[in-house]
Amino acid sequence: MDCPKCGDDMTAGILMGGRDGVYWLSKEYRKKHAFAPVTKKAKEEAGMFAIRSGDGIFTPNEDFYVCKKCGLLTAELPYIKEAAESE
Ligand SMILES: [Zn+2]
Repeated sequence: MDCPKCGDDMTAGILMGGRDGVYWLSKEYRKKHAFAPVTKKAKEEAGMFAIRSGDGIFTPNEDFYVCKKCGLLTAELPYIKEAAESE
């Protein structure tokens, strides 16, 4: 997906939540690793960053695209889509 602001390629990722907040990490990393990154090096590889702190949510299947140049996060959530032509 292209960034709506700068047109650069956005990075697909997932959201991961826990006791200490909600984080974004790249889908590429998630594909390769069974567990969330723990070490500083692994977090860098995953491009991991915190969305917010507080109670957690877990979104394993949705796509969250990020452009770190513009600070933009956009999500593709098929399940909230409303039918374009309903009856
Ligand atoms: Zn951008």
